[in-house]
Amino acid sequence: MKNKFRIYTIKLNRRLLLLIGFMVIFLIAIFKLRDSQVLDIFNFSDKDIIVVDPGHGGIDGGAGKKSDILEKDINLGVSLKLKKELLVEGFHVIMTRENDESLEDLSSINSSRYRKDLDARRNIINNNKPLVFISIHCNSSTRSSARGIKIYHYPNSVEGEELAKNISESIDRNFYYNYFRDDNLKCEILCEDFFILRETEYPGVLVEVGFITNPEERRLLQDDEYQQKLARAIKKGILSYLQK
Ligand SMILES: [Zn+2]
Repeated sequence: MKNKFRIYTIKLNRRLLLLIGFMVIFLIAIFKLRDSQVLDIFNFSDKDIIVVDPGHGGIDGGAGKKSDILEKDINLGVSLKLKKELLVEGFHVIMTRENDESLEDLSSINSSRYRKDLDARRNIINNNKPLVFISIHCNSSTRSSARGIKIYHYPNSVEGEELAKNISESIDRNFYYNYFRDDNLKCEILCEDFFILRETEYPGVLVEVGFITNPEERRLLQDDEYQQKLARAIKKGILSYLQK
């Protein structure tokens, strides 16, 4: 009886070992396969262009009081961080501006300074044929309680709406929930007939990264880490849009 029992346990152990061995090989194979798919998906080249458009600049401060922080500075801060995030992924990133400047001098149309600035931005986007473009702005309101991130796409733009959805989901998950620890906050998607969305031939959205008129958001929007986490969440949304 004793011997039989020992043989049985040895057999069982051998079977168990074989089973564990197969499982390990199976899991390694799955991870390898998954890695190679991930590499394929993320294999963007510098021919894959994304345009990042920090709103306003120079004489045009955007929303905000002159004595305080101005929208143009927050827009540039978030945009430069988004550029870095996208460069890491292998994209070729074109910025409409990288300094505190307005772009009317780049436009040849005979119109107002404001209109010439927008015309220059439109031309930079259309001439570079990007996969997507992202305009970064801040919101303002007469109600100081108004807050939150809003993403605008052009009405009836299927691709614009899809891009907006992906960025919005990423911000809700990666920014509001994982970083900001507040799952009551949700990104809002809206459609609007903005010049930069209407006059461009490529999928794009305008992201209002928060309200400069809300005391808490104004303070947060000047924080480097806050800007960085937000830029990363926008990038992750762009990546998930491009993978679909
Ligand atoms: Zn603006």
